Amino acid sequence: MSLYSKILVAVDLTEEAPQVLRKAVTLSQQNNAELLLTHVVEPVGYAYGGDIPMDLSELQDQLDKAAREQLAAYGKEYGIAEDNQIVAVGRPESEIHHLSEERGVDLIVVGSHGRRGIQLLLGSTANGVLHGAKCDVLAVRIR
Ligand code: AMP
Repeated sequence: MSLYSKILVAVDLTEEAPQVLRKAVTLSQQNNAELLLTHVVEPVGYAYGGDIPMDLSELQDQLDKAAREQLAAYGKEYGIAEDNQIVAVGRPESEIHHLSEERGVDLIVVGSHGRRGIQLLLGSTANGVLHGAKCDVLAVRIR
């Protein structure tokens, strides 16, 4: 029985990403579901609070390009169509919600570090995605 027809996996492009990606690929195969892959590039202005009097657009372009290249490499390795490799710019949680609604996704897959205590209070992307998602969310425990 197929539980899901369209799965979105969000990756942060660290060395942990393949752990999340592999589970999403297996789930999509088991469910015969379409798989979408995304990475959200955070606007560089956020990181520097707009305090630095310099043009950050070139840096932003380089981050976008690096993300596209990495998603293309994953796409090739895991058989994800080019149209389903999506680089967005903004806050990861909001962009992941937006994309999942726009593309009619029924399962979002993210990684989770299983934070506890104060770290949990400070929040994580997995938490942020879970709260406000209009579909199921799978948090893959990162080891
Ligand atoms: P974090 O809470 O930042 O440690 O991230 C946990 C998980 O959230 C990652 O394994 C990804 O699935 C997802 N994630 C974090 N940052 C991003 C990002 N910039 N774009 C897409 N997914 C992300």
